[in-house]
Amino acid sequence: MTEKYIYSFHKGDGKNKVLLGGKGANLCEMTQIGLNVPPGFVITTKACLDYLESHLLPDGLMDDAKDHIAEVEAISGKKFGNSRNPLLVSVRSGSAISMPGMMDTILNLGLNAQTLTGLIKQTGDARFAYDAYRRFIQLFGKIALGINDEKFDLHFVSIKKQAGIKSDMGLNADHLRQISELFLQVVLEETGKPFPEDVFEQLELSIKAVFNSWMGKRALDYRREFHITPQMANGTAVSVVAMVFGNMGNDCATGVGFTRNPGTGVNEMYGEYLVNAQGEDVVAGIRTPKPVHELLHEMPHLYKQLVDLRNKLEAHYKEVQDYEYTIECGILYCLQTRNAKMNAMAMVRTSVEMVAEGLISKEKALLRINPELLEQLLHPQLDPEHSEHPVAQGLPASPGAAFGKCVFDADTAELMGRAGEPVILLREETKPEDIHGFFAAQGILTSRGGKTSHAAVVARGMGKACIAGAEAIKIDVRARQANVGDLHIREGDIITIDGSTGLIYLGKIPTIEPSFSEELKTLLAWADEFAEMEVHANVDTPERARMAASYGATGIGLCRTERMFNASDRLPLVIDMILADNKEVRQEALEKLFPIQRDDFKQLFEAMSPYPVTVRLLDPPMHEFLPSEHQLEDEIKSLNLYKVMIHGQQVTLDTLGAHIALPEPFTLLNEEVINKVIAKKELMLKKVKELYEVNPMLGHRGVRLGMSYPEIYQMQIRSILEAAALCAKQQIPILPEIMVPQVITVQELIKVKSYVDHIKEEVEHQYGIRLEFKFGTMIETVRACTRASELAGVAEFFSFGTNDLTQATFSFSREDAENKFLPLYNETGLLEDNPFEVLDAKGVGQLMKMTAEAGHKTRPDIKIGICGEQGGHPQSIRFCHHIKLDYVSCSAPRIPIARLAVAHAKLLENDYRIS
Ligand code: PEP
Ligand code: MG
Repeated sequence: MTEKYIYSFHKGDGKNKVLLGGKGANLCEMTQIGLNVPPGFVITTKACLDYLESHLLPDGLMDDAKDHIAEVEAISGKKFGNSRNPLLVSVRSGSAISMPGMMDTILNLGLNAQTLTGLIKQTGDARFAYDAYRRFIQLFGKIALGINDEKFDLHFVSIKKQAGIKSDMGLNADHLRQISELFLQVVLEETGKPFPEDVFEQLELSIKAVFNSWMGKRALDYRREFHITPQMANGTAVSVVAMVFGNMGNDCATGVGFTRNPGTGVNEMYGEYLVNAQGEDVVAGIRTPKPVHELLHEMPHLYKQLVDLRNKLEAHYKEVQDYEYTIECGILYCLQTRNAKMNAMAMVRTSVEMVAEGLISKEKALLRINPELLEQLLHPQLDPEHSEHPVAQGLPASPGAAFGKCVFDADTAELMGRAGEPVILLREETKPEDIHGFFAAQGILTSRGGKTSHAAVVARGMGKACIAGAEAIKIDVRARQANVGDLHIREGDIITIDGSTGLIYLGKIPTIEPSFSEELKTLLAWADEFAEMEVHANVDTPERARMAASYGATGIGLCRTERMFNASDRLPLVIDMILADNKEVRQEALEKLFPIQRDDFKQLFEAMSPYPVTVRLLDPPMHEFLPSEHQLEDEIKSLNLYKVMIHGQQVTLDTLGAHIALPEPFTLLNEEVINKVIAKKELMLKKVKELYEVNPMLGHRGVRLGMSYPEIYQMQIRSILEAAALCAKQQIPILPEIMVPQVITVQELIKVKSYVDHIKEEVEHQYGIRLEFKFGTMIETVRACTRASELAGVAEFFSFGTNDLTQATFSFSREDAENKFLPLYNETGLLEDNPFEVLDAKGVGQLMKMTAEAGHKTRPDIKIGICGEQGGHPQSIRFCHHIKLDYVSCSAPRIPIARLAVAHAKLLENDYRIS
């Protein structure tokens, strides 16, 4: 055997987790830094891979294992398979990446009829020995021999029943002996062979079983779910460790601990233990463990040793540890340690405190936190103690948890919201006209649409919880109810939604409010010290801009002006503008909108002063501002019925001959008024039909509107420039940027630029000042990428609109793909990620790279950023850093995540690979 497949804990390289698995490497490392670890050895992941390929253990592996067992015997003073002083071992799985519970482990290996007698004599405790024996037979039978657990459980339950015993603790030695004998019988019946008495045969079968568990369904599903690639972890190692027992009397115990409190991050002893128990009793919750502080009174000497162990672990690993220990007859053994999994609050606090303690550097403090984790600190979360089961699941479109009464339209949401009721707005999909419902609602749930659907983008911008595309829920607006299979959710019923997971629950689940702590501020200030790219925000209102600034945004990368059109005082004006038959009538409506827009922009500039504010000219197709055809037809029908009713009333009154006038409100809303309303609605319907497009996302939108209706863009440009002039007059330092959406050719840009130049001259003359601003374009069509060098001749900045650019590159509808075929693509590995969430570096990214290079060539000081949803995603941010973008822009609540991610991108730039 040339390859070295086995390392004793004294020799294995504690840093080589790929070869020895996380558990094996840590056992080696702990042994070598002098912690009291039971003796043992690790069989490498390479042995596992070789075994899985040939279905044979490598030549000589078992001989080598025997030699290592001999070493363990020498250290422990016990003998494997010996009836007087038996050595028992555990055979544990463990790969480079921790996959808790996904692979197999066997305990108490080495027990057979003979060693059992030895164990009874040695411990003087027959109950203990039979308990260990029956556990071993079942575990070995299940894992190494493939016998169904139920076959054993049946006997276990029937003995308990016969004895009239409820808890396992009540079983005595005799019961456990009977159970062990029945279990041996099960093995014989199920395999046709007696239980293996030869301890080395037991060892060999167990090693093979643990290796096989690497390819078990559980492990495969887990690796797929958490994107664990063979580069990250390939095969499982096997650690063979001498057993130590925490259940051999009252001077024994078993416990688990964290070196700091994983819930709060406080630097204190934390954990729990059980006297006279085995590790699995703590985990299984059979007995209630005691807090570790009680050990100080119960076993003061060992408590001191435990404090010492905890200090050594942290000083060595320089990271919070989650460790397991056993006390066997007054001796403390450390069985396992790994980096602790903690919530976001604890991660942030421990990062800041470990820097202050001199334990780690600022770089390490930043890098040890996954930026996505910060999400927890910025949105309400479901109480982690809740035990409700979800009734359905949709796409996690905007994070945070919310509960409220179900409502099925925006008006009711507003009404109930005003009355102080928490509400969840349920729609098939949302439209801009639903915006007042968004303001009033705690959360939004749609049965259609993806993560870049209107509902998702608007909710994220507002920081409200949203689930999109929950297709299992059938929403029946007319019946005012939603159906999930046979379950009916009616208006007023309370539901809870978790926008971070997409799960929907019936009833109210309490939520925990977020907090932006001093520690988080400190950590993010460190992130800013390392970052190269700036972080801007996608916001459209002064309040959101102030919020983004308070989260540390240094600019607005995207203000979607259409959002400003949605407020209830503007929508009627916008509708008049759309319904206008000619330029003059449209101009009239635009003149009313102009001062409103100008004030909006001024407030926005002030809120973000002195940082840049990129204002995008109108983008969505016009019909988005009008009600749907369906709704209008319904409304016209109702109005006609109402008219008939008024007429009927009048006929009644006339017939009775009584000279009575129509009662209120019929006098007010009389036939004449209704006729006018019907005429308006019919005009809207006509316009909606005219504007109808089969594929509006690829239709009359963006700069195409600016070409067809120049007066709309001109009004917006004038609003922006006059707002800038007003700020300049008040000495407010601002940096406005005018951005054109959906551009495909430089001719479009030249045309819009001509409006800008003309209006600039007029405004400068009017206000007697010179205006400073930038003019640029979104890059969100494939053609814009291919024409980047020409576009950069006119544009002073580029902003990648990666929502549309992804749609265009993949030819996937951003509205539908995520809840139609994309999940299948992701599950089956046809595509690694959802490209609307994680920037597709290999496809869309290459277009961006090419565009950025061409842009820089034409205009070396061109400013380039990203404002698609991927701009707030850490992995995408790393790509943006790689192609040297100047900034990323994302919704306000993602700003802290993006600040940490841009620092990561810089600190890890040398390791960046497009996988
Ligand atoms: C984009 O397409 O990436 C973008 C930011 O614009 P919108 O989502 O408004 O189309
Ligand atoms: Mg776009």
